[in-house]
Amino acid sequence: MTVIISRALHDRLVTLAAATPDVEVCGLLFGTVGRISGVLPARNVARLPKTRFEIDPAALIAALKAERAGGRSVIGHYHSHPNGLADPSVQDAEMADPGGAIWLIIAGGKVSAWRTGQSGLHDRFVPALLLIQDSDSA
Ligand SMILES: [Zn+2]
Repeated sequence: MTVIISRALHDRLVTLAAATPDVEVCGLLFGTVGRISGVLPARNVARLPKTRFEIDPAALIAALKAERAGGRSVIGHYHSHPNGLADPSVQDAEMADPGGAIWLIIAGGKVSAWRTGQSGLHDRFVPALLLIQDSDSA
């Protein structure tokens, strides 16, 4: 599948990750599954933030409440890999829920896109093509 993101949002994610290169940054993604229309940085509350991320539950709950009230749809989240590896880590696979959420991973100044599979280990992460749009027509 293809996920569209504007150049501005893409560059913002790369900048956020570069600003704290020693720990994983993370946040929420809004939009539709095929198009990311917004990002919201959140605190990484993981105990080992160099190699793991855990989005501040308060931020997640607030976003889901806002969505239910008619706000932006939460379609997934992003996080960075300070080690520069673009693939989902073993820790990511452990915490990924099936169900089609979009995962963006920022590593080495690039962003890769994944979608969680519907079941099982073998399709836990399905690679997606991240299409960067120069003009934001969203
Ligand atoms: Zn990861």
